[in-house]
Amino acid sequence: MTRTTATGLEVLAALALPALAGLDEARAAGRSCVWGGEPLENPTAVDLGVQLVDGRTWFPRACRTCIAQRAHQALVAHAPMCPACRSEDAADCPLGAALRHLVAAHTPVRYCSACSRQIGPGEEYETHLSQSPSGAGGATTHTHTKCPRRRR
Ligand SMILES: [Zn+2]
Ligand SMILES: [Zn+2]
Ligand SMILES: [Zn+2]
Repeated sequence: MTRTTATGLEVLAALALPALAGLDEARAAGRSCVWGGEPLENPTAVDLGVQLVDGRTWFPRACRTCIAQRAHQALVAHAPMCPACRSEDAADCPLGAALRHLVAAHTPVRYCSACSRQIGPGEEYETHLSQSPSGAGGATTHTHTKCPRRRR
């Protein structure tokens, strides 16, 4: 449905797409995340676009967690050195805009159960699983690593 294609060589270079030669078959075929190696489910996989390397085409795909992390890291590396991204008047930087879009599109919205604020991209957090009494299901909560976890 909402599968995003992140094409653009400049964007892929900033994301540090691994070289095809060093990848196992599942990653090269787009069956698992090109960065983390997690098996991919079709609805959540992010297509990175067709790559052409030495006459071979391949279709790298990534999981949302990895693409959001990669884009955030790339933005942190790029923005301080880019006059357009640093300027106040939101000057147009296609790379910066593409990276910000990737971060926004693929970072799941999580809230810290200790301070109630949103856990932003790149912020460290912990995931807690509380088991329900019946043993069925259970809720997942998140807290910032620096926030004390509330005891109940
Ligand atoms: Zn991944
Ligand atoms: Zn920029
Ligand atoms: Zn917090």
